[in-house]
Amino acid sequence: MPAAAVDPQMGVVRTVKELRARVDAWRAAGLSVGLVPTMGALHQGHLSLVERSNSLADRTVASIFVNPAQFAPHEDFGSYPRREETDLELLRRAGCSLVFIPAAVEMYPDGFQTSIAVSQVSQGLCGASRPHFFGGVATVVCKLLNQARPDIAVFGEKDYQQLLVIRRMVKDLDMPIEIVGAPIVRETDGLAMSSRNAYLSQEERIVAGRLNKVIAEMADRLQRGGGVAEAIAFGRAALADAGFSAVDYLDVRGADLLDDPGSGALSKNARVFAAVLLGKTRLIDNWPVEINAR
Ligand code: AMP
Repeated sequence: MPAAAVDPQMGVVRTVKELRARVDAWRAAGLSVGLVPTMGALHQGHLSLVERSNSLADRTVASIFVNPAQFAPHEDFGSYPRREETDLELLRRAGCSLVFIPAAVEMYPDGFQTSIAVSQVSQGLCGASRPHFFGGVATVVCKLLNQARPDIAVFGEKDYQQLLVIRRMVKDLDMPIEIVGAPIVRETDGLAMSSRNAYLSQEERIVAGRLNKVIAEMADRLQRGGGVAEAIAFGRAALADAGFSAVDYLDVRGADLLDDPGSGALSKNARVFAAVLLGKTRLIDNWPVEINAR
């Protein structure tokens, strides 16, 4: 991002009231607004979403909120990396105009009782192993969209099922916001960037770089007409060989609806989805299978 694009006036607000005041002033001036929701511990994947938003809207608001509602009690809410100062500097350099950093009580005040459930597309994959997860995500994203009232909101394909859940929710609830999906940003060995990669030991980090290669190979086999069941069997064996401690899921689903494509050769675009454990760290990734392009 050229230095000229850096907004030296980047604001930081912590209440919905302040957020609304800033966004309303932009709207009154005829400016469009993009929202990039995050949980912080930012990396280039997040910043690519800010860049995408900047290319589509006049002002970008990023939010940083580690949402307790999407973590189960045994998960890493307490240890999730938090580094506000570094995040603010990265956002400033990426050309973000405003950062919303609400406290938990601002998002979930006393007496809060509502939750959003997006039924079908939340099922399976991450929805099976983290049953609380998409309810928590949909509820907090619905709130952030209502709070910031952006024209567009940008989400990464890294969390592909989440992107589809949010698209569905926005459509079903008639929210006048365009949901933009952005490609996965990867490290040089192909590992999908993630705030949780910071948990990996040096040895685990080397193994982690194999995940994308295994699912890319599965996608390639499927694209060349191979069957789903064989591709999954190949992938499971390759992940075990690579040294992953466990496979949470390894699956192939339709690219638009996450429907089950059966066990044979694919007849339409799909995606390979993986969630694996490396020690205590859970990694997810996905890879497109372009059948229509064949
Ligand atoms: P998180 O902070 O993990 O909740 O992610 C916030 C947003 O950044 C979500 O829309 C993610 O899909 C997106 N994101 C995270 N990692 C990446 C990545 N490596 N490439 C693209 N987008 C990403």
